[in-house]
Amino acid sequence: MDTNLTHLEHADTDHALEIAPRVWWVGHVLPDDVFQCHVYLLEQGNQSVLFDPGSRLTFSGTLRKIEEVIPFTHIRYFVCHHQDPDIAAAMPLIDELTDRPDAVLVTHWRTRALLKHYGLKMPFWLVEEHDWRLTLEDRELEFIFTPYAHFPGAIATFDPSTGVVFSSDLFGGFTERPTLIAKDESHFEALRPFHEHYMPSRDILDFALSQIDRHPVKVIAPQHGSIIPERLVPFMIDKLRHLDCGIYLFARENTDILRLSRLNETLREITQTMLLYRDFRDIAERLFEVVARNLPVERIDYYARLDDGTILSLSQETRYSGFTVDPLPEIAAILGTTRTQWLATLRPDPAKAEPVLFGDAFCTRMRGGSGQVVTLPLFSPQDDVMQAAALIYIGTSARIGPEETHVIEQIMMPLQVALEREVIYRSIESERKKAYQRSIRDSLTGLFTRFYMLDVMQRHCSIHDRNESAPVAAIMVDVDHFKRINDTYGHAAGDEVLKQVAQVLRESIRETDIPVRFGGEEFILFLVGASAFGARDYAERIRSAVERHAFAIDSGQRLAVTVSLGAAMRQQYEQLDELIRRADGALYRAKQNGRNRVEL
Ligand code: GH3
Ligand code: MG
Ligand code: MG
Repeated sequence: MDTNLTHLEHADTDHALEIAPRVWWVGHVLPDDVFQCHVYLLEQGNQSVLFDPGSRLTFSGTLRKIEEVIPFTHIRYFVCHHQDPDIAAAMPLIDELTDRPDAVLVTHWRTRALLKHYGLKMPFWLVEEHDWRLTLEDRELEFIFTPYAHFPGAIATFDPSTGVVFSSDLFGGFTERPTLIAKDESHFEALRPFHEHYMPSRDILDFALSQIDRHPVKVIAPQHGSIIPERLVPFMIDKLRHLDCGIYLFARENTDILRLSRLNETLREITQTMLLYRDFRDIAERLFEVVARNLPVERIDYYARLDDGTILSLSQETRYSGFTVDPLPEIAAILGTTRTQWLATLRPDPAKAEPVLFGDAFCTRMRGGSGQVVTLPLFSPQDDVMQAAALIYIGTSARIGPEETHVIEQIMMPLQVALEREVIYRSIESERKKAYQRSIRDSLTGLFTRFYMLDVMQRHCSIHDRNESAPVAAIMVDVDHFKRINDTYGHAAGDEVLKQVAQVLRESIRETDIPVRFGGEEFILFLVGASAFGARDYAERIRSAVERHAFAIDSGQRLAVTVSLGAAMRQQYEQLDELIRRADGALYRAKQNGRNRVEL
């Protein structure tokens, strides 16, 4: 017989159905009952066994199906895996119907303690007094003790000859529409809330599962939900092992268990997200998914105040790359306020119907009537000042009830941590950038430093090595008789002259060329690409521009200053310091030949 039970997927549940050799489903489908109680019959001639006979509501249907297989009086053993009414309430009816003196109620002593109050004439047959076994015509059943899941005397039954386990409440499920055979892995979503709800703890459930797992199970025949075929058995056992249980013990009767179950899953995902991810982008995206499962969110935007007072905007649209922005006026108004101030702004304004306040932490406002936006303030723990805020844009129709509020409240803390981390990271990054700028720019002249020159010119040289038509030229520039300027007008005037020479240099070259302050009053210009071919012309232009420039100094005097220049064209594969040495050699000749001139 096919233990995957595909042949039963569309079977007519109006009749008894054989799920394994001599094993029959004889349940009765009750419309509008999420519990769907299943009864199973093991046909063994006049030694037959009936499992979890069921409620009085379904018993007539069950009886009719039993009679399709065997006369009811052929049943000798009535197994009650625990004492719940949906299993045992029909026992008084059965007690009336059964006239054979050897009929017994098979159960655990703890169950007997309760079932004896039915006052049945049928005697009890206790599993622990029979070595947890029942020997039948063609097989021997094994009873499995699954205490506290969910009753201290709970048991299940295993039939080794077919691999069927009659699992009672274990592997039970809530089914909105009755489905006799579980179709695929998605059936776990029926099991999940049932177990989260009825099994008191994961340890207890794990123990029960390990007891079941010791047997070579092929088919799981639970008392509720759907029968689990062989191909899904390992999956369901494994998934149940990782389930949180006992989480709804205090839930009210009218609570929507499926919703609670989803909520629980959501909260766990939030925790996992925080454990797994470090990057704000990842966290924000995961949390968006989590919130989107519970609410029709359009987007979530984040604003954080940096140390220097600028406001960082992080949004999904820009992949959370982060820009400092002029924020929305609402945001600018609230960032930096204390919790007390924030709460004061929320005091309901009689002129407006909103805001609606949830707890003391966040509120929702209508946005031009087209939707809702929940503002989630994130306060820094030290001074209770709002460091950041998340704006959650939600569709108009969304109902924000206590459970949605709960989800939103739960994401506050992780977001706070993620945003704080992000702000710290950004501050460090911006400090790093400033430090880098300082290291590449000379503070007096604003020209590049030698440190930067080495880095950038290595790259230009290797481009030139690969491509002859991307040449590099160096022009060394040295102020003539600069020492005299210092000596005559003072060091400050000397500085001023250096600044102005730098300014003339900058104005004489192209954006792409690289002006460097090489040393005291020495500069080096690197011309890259086309301008390198005109190195001599550039040098000449600089020489004459300096000569024509009136160097105004603080004392109001105007000085005449000249420079000498030495230019060199880089040869392919020439080392940078060799190029500089040749330019310096040319400069030396320019000095030798009378200054205020260019040598190549
Ligand atoms: P030459 O025409 O041969 O180049 O003569 P020079 O006087 O310009 O050359 P020298 O190298 O002998 O003198 C350079 C002077 O520049 C020496 C140093 O005190 C001065 N100097 C170097 N760095 C600075 C600076 O940052 N500010 C000022 N004011 N002077 C500087
Ligand atoms: Mg000089
Ligand atoms: Mg010098």
